[in-house]
Amino acid sequence: ELLKGQAPKKLAWKPLRAHVIGAGTMGADIAGWCVARGMEVTLQDVSPEQIAKGIAAQGKLFARKFKTKPQRDAAKARLIADPNGEGVARADVVIEAIVEKLDIKRTVLAEVANRLKPGALLATNTSSLQIEDIAAGLPDPGRLIGLHFFNPVAMMPLVEVVRGEQSREDEVSRGAAFVTAIDKFPLITKSVPGFLVNRVLTPYMFGAMKLIEQGEDKERIDEAARTFGMPMGPIELADTVGLDVCAHVARILGFSSEGSRLDRLVAAGKLGKKSGEGFYVWK
Ligand code: NAD
Repeated sequence: ELLKGQAPKKLAWKPLRAHVIGAGTMGADIAGWCVARGMEVTLQDVSPEQIAKGIAAQGKLFARKFKTKPQRDAAKARLIADPNGEGVARADVVIEAIVEKLDIKRTVLAEVANRLKPGALLATNTSSLQIEDIAAGLPDPGRLIGLHFFNPVAMMPLVEVVRGEQSREDEVSRGAAFVTAIDKFPLITKSVPGFLVNRVLTPYMFGAMKLIEQGEDKERIDEAARTFGMPMGPIELADTVGLDVCAHVARILGFSSEGSRLDRLVAAGKLGKKSGEGFYVWK
């Protein structure tokens, strides 16, 4: 109820077109979700192969959401490969979801900012950088907000709407309105490390990993958490999020994973579900 009280009423503003930069795990699925909610989306990436792969991966979502072939074909037609970023100038919402590197995000957003339509919303999907650091190089830093989607996008109702130190209040409200318009739940958070959800979830997953190091079985930990009432245990969750992502967020939050099982798995390329093996084997 507390969270629901914060949700904005649907604003008159109806975003029709989105442009997503980065067609990796998150960008492609954010694009697919927006298309499934009726928007037209242009999808940009430095790698044309990644765009093609990201678009193809949305077939499953469209098959679930749309029962008839004409509906599915219409959805496919609304998801447009855009390697040169031409869609920026038409978009009502631009979401950056490229690699988690501050300098690259700054460069890409500075270029995009010059081509935005007046009134377009500008957002980053960063999970660990501060919004104000990314915004620092922009002509209008108050325009940037965070829209932090969770993985897997189609399953996770919550989106953190992150207010950077300089983010303007109307941009934050429109961010929340956009999240509502695509049938997700907006949670407005401050731009502090881990925002809100990762700040809570990371110690939970890290605590479980510590127990494994101390000889506890991962299966027992996960079953205990599920029996307690969590939809998924902490170790399964870490494998789902990606162990490289977990290790990165843990570092940002000051947890030392040096020499841990987590670090050894990441070093061995065992990143969880996405690589076929992490704490568990997923093949
Ligand atoms: P990813 O590595 O799967 O995808 C990143 C994509 O960005 C790649 O396809 C790459 O080719 C592309 N890219 C790199 N530089 C580019 C540039 N200059 N222009 C255009 N495209 C470029 O990464 P991801 O896991 O999808 O994460 C993307 C963002 O989302 C990061 O900021 C990450 O912190 C955040 N995030 C990730 C998760 C997660 O669970 N993976 C969850 C929430 C938020």
